[in-house]
Amino acid sequence: MDFKVGVIAGDGIGPEVTDEAWKVLSKVGEKFGHTFHRTDILMGGCSIDATGEPLTDEAIETAKAQDAVLMGSIGGNTSTSPWYKLPPQKRPEAGLLKLRKSLNLFANLRPAYLYPQLKEACPLKEATAEAGFDMLIMRELTGGLYFGARKTHEVNGLMTAEDTLTYNEEEIRRIAKRGFDVAMKRRKKVISVDKANVLDSSRLWRKVVEEVAADYPEVTLEHMLVDNCAMQLVKDPAQFDVVLTENMFGDILSDEAAMITGSLGMLSSASLNETKFGLYEPSGGSAPDIAGMDIANPIATILSAAMMLRYSFDLDAEADAIEEAVRKTLDDGIRTGDIMPREGEGSVTKVGCSAMGDAIVARL
Ligand code: NAD
Repeated sequence: MDFKVGVIAGDGIGPEVTDEAWKVLSKVGEKFGHTFHRTDILMGGCSIDATGEPLTDEAIETAKAQDAVLMGSIGGNTSTSPWYKLPPQKRPEAGLLKLRKSLNLFANLRPAYLYPQLKEACPLKEATAEAGFDMLIMRELTGGLYFGARKTHEVNGLMTAEDTLTYNEEEIRRIAKRGFDVAMKRRKKVISVDKANVLDSSRLWRKVVEEVAADYPEVTLEHMLVDNCAMQLVKDPAQFDVVLTENMFGDILSDEAAMITGSLGMLSSASLNETKFGLYEPSGGSAPDIAGMDIANPIATILSAAMMLRYSFDLDAEADAIEEAVRKTLDDGIRTGDIMPREGEGSVTKVGCSAMGDAIVARL
């Protein structure tokens, strides 16, 4: 089959890691008889340098014409880069927000999986790391506090700031359905996270999630308050399969879930809309401190490409093959600098970004 893939290489390590993911996709194409047509799209700092805008309307149209988009990362050093002297709506990150909004990417999927080969990097208790965990955070991405009306004004002589957290039942229903659909492909358990003891928006969230759950009798549903969830992630992460939550809670919890794997360079993510279209990117940033040095870990981007095959193209066997090749590469003791074991723990071979891509391609 033929697929049109937009590639937003972006800034920093973005071009290096997307090149490795492309190598892997090309190998998958060769092995399974598919052709992936690549169209490069400018976004972020590189787009500011070329066009004065972090994302042009033309770039959005090009992205919309693809079957899916694979992204590296955008942004530079926020203290030293001239991009951060620009007004906020002209900075690299504004491009990503505009893209998410223009493509209506309301569902953000972030798996957090502890590779047994890397469990010594897990900052949790040894017994917790030994038990392992494999969860996916389904975060609502285009509503709630980050998209509500906001203003800063004077009230009774005091500077006062307001942000609005709004959800309607339709917005909750569509993300809940996505959460239950994904749970059906996993261990069939959804933990819906809210703050229903305080917030009206959370009480509506709970009601709608329960209505959706009625259509998925095989999936177990539990509700958990967000503060408890933050604790439980550290105490007993193995209890989680799919965590379904709103925008701001998901932002915070997904970073926490990423951190307890101990290896940000390994974590993929997907942002989806109502159709099969998705934007796939690693969870980490553009790592300007190591850009151009061929030492970045490309695995998160390679696993993001696997998610693209699974969620946008329905190529499950091909996605499994990439994930298996990554596991074999780790089993064979091949590591980039960020996932090296502590001194004296295991013998491994340290490789750079491009050699890691080659090692995964070889195992495909
Ligand atoms: P970062 O994730 O880029 O880097 C944090 C640390 O992790 C750095 O030491 C970096 O070297 C390391 N790291 C990150 N990815 C790695 C990889 N694949 N392999 C090896 N090491 C890796 O976070 P930051 O330094 O806070 O942000 C840098 C820039 O990235 C900023 O401009 C920020 O806005 C941007 N950013 C972009 C995205 C995105 O494109 N979606 C996400 C987060 C941050």
